Amino acid sequence: MRRWNGWGDDAKTYPLPESAAGHLERILGEADPVPDASFEQVLSAVPASRLSPHPLINTNPAERLLHARGQSLPDWIALRSGQIDVFPDGVTYPTSDEEVRSLLTYAGETDTILIPYGGGTSVVGHINPLPGDRPTLTVDMNRLNKLINLDETNRTATFEAGITGPSLEEELRTRGCILGHFPQSWEFSTLGGWIATRSSGQQSYFYGRVEDFFAGGHLESPIGPLELPPLPASAAGPDLREMVLGSEGRLGIITRATIRVQSTPEVERFYAAFFRDWETGVNAVRAVAQSDLPVSMLRLSNPQETETTLRLAGRERLVSFAERGLRLLGRGEESCMLIYGLTGYRGILAITRWRTGALLRSHGGLLVGKTIGEMWRKSRFYTPYLRNTLWERGYAVDTLETAVSWANVLPIAEAITTALRDGLTDQDERVLAFAHLSHIYRDGASVYVTFIFRRAKDPAETLERWQRLKSAASEVIIAHGGTISHQHGVGTDHAPYLTAEKGEVGMSMLVAVQQKLDPQGLLNPGKLLR
Ligand SMILES: Cc1cc2nc3c(=O)[nH]c(=O)nc-3n(C[C@H](O)[C@H](O)[C@H](O)COP(=O)(O)OP(=O)(O)OC[C@H]3O[C@@H](n4cnc5c(N)ncnc54)[C@H](O)[C@@H]3O)c2cc1C
Repeated sequence: MRRWNGWGDDAKTYPLPESAAGHLERILGEADPVPDASFEQVLSAVPASRLSPHPLINTNPAERLLHARGQSLPDWIALRSGQIDVFPDGVTYPTSDEEVRSLLTYAGETDTILIPYGGGTSVVGHINPLPGDRPTLTVDMNRLNKLINLDETNRTATFEAGITGPSLEEELRTRGCILGHFPQSWEFSTLGGWIATRSSGQQSYFYGRVEDFFAGGHLESPIGPLELPPLPASAAGPDLREMVLGSEGRLGIITRATIRVQSTPEVERFYAAFFRDWETGVNAVRAVAQSDLPVSMLRLSNPQETETTLRLAGRERLVSFAERGLRLLGRGEESCMLIYGLTGYRGILAITRWRTGALLRSHGGLLVGKTIGEMWRKSRFYTPYLRNTLWERGYAVDTLETAVSWANVLPIAEAITTALRDGLTDQDERVLAFAHLSHIYRDGASVYVTFIFRRAKDPAETLERWQRLKSAASEVIIAHGGTISHQHGVGTDHAPYLTAEKGEVGMSMLVAVQQKLDPQGLLNPGKLLR
């Protein structure tokens, strides 16, 4: 069963290896975990629903609690402490376009806010009901979860939008195809959610970002349906798919989407290499990105992340072996680890491996084969479970991300991690902050930062620590000309920073489109556009 106040399936846990626990304690100090509120305690705080009855609406308090928050750190603080200020007044599970339309009509007639809900894995406040006088209804898409059609000739597949990553890939796998969109939240996030947040998978370098594979679809808006025909290309004016991508539930409810799929690759392998320091590694990765070698993933960790990742892997012998080996080869504490993936036909892969290896070596890379790469592959969806373990040990974890052009990659990574590390010094609290390049482009990269700090006894104080750290990092991102989000979207948390990227004219264009499609402001107000 899915955890109600944390990440993932409650049958899965990520025990913290002793060396990792010691590492955290040395850096952050011993933590003092505060017990969580129980489900029953939080349930008893759910107020009466304000919705007028409707056959499609469930007002059961447990359903409402399970849809009250997403997966951001403020969401965790609210869920774990039981201090949830607002709950949706009801939850609905439509099974057809007609039902979605009837819900939009009901919302218009009763002035009810609708929050489209995919997997609820948002990390920026997308699906949270906000305080106000109007009742809120969460529209959970999980019953719209079927494959409608696989077009073998065009290599496109049409799915209902509420399908999750594993179900979608299973449907495709049995037909010899793959989408290859693997965000770390893949287990629970949905096709509609990926489109509405402009999500990026771990191997988007090879399989494409959502804007590459989203060919068309269907959206139900308050003023009527919008059909996006799945054309291979079009010069017929601005592309309306771009309006729907990243719309965060503000323009309508995506009920189905046609996506571009590919044949299942013959072989896929992950390898690791080490670099003497971060700068050398960044230069090597840029060289690969600009060489046009068909690699499928490049993920370069900075020294602090390299050390933490190896410790968290829990392979004590492997870690000490790696450390000894790196020291012998003159690669010490500043070592950076690269995980790279190769995907495709066996023969092409052999050549790619050889050419990529030669290029990495020419930049000082030490190739260490498949073991660490395979470890990464096996734990790629398991690592987020560590958030549960760390929380229970008294530590809070969050991540943030941006994308910048190459000249800015090193400065922004340094500035964000420094702002985070220094963010709580006046409280005498330390912060562990580390970064990796998660998505690589010819002209730049996304910088993904993880930060860990001790929780306070009082949840309000933990939230206040997070707010200070998050705004310090966000200010740095804006000051360096980075995007406020490469993949997590805007929601409520990033909305104050959106104008810096879009400008006043750009913002007024977005608002005009939103007001045209949703004149009553029924859909997810307060998210994306304030
Ligand atoms: C542990 C973890 C790891 C993550 N890793 C990644 C990652 O690697 N890459 C990445 O891109 N993101 C990642 N995320 C963020 C999150 O998973 C993505 O934003 C994802 O796309 C959200 O999908 P969802 O189905 O859960 O949408 P939800 O969280 O339910 O909703 C997100 C937004 O989309 C809207 N929406 C959802 N479905 C529809 C629909 N059918 N029609 C209209 N609007 C809709 C909602 O209203 C909301 O505004 C991660 C999150 C977590 C918790």
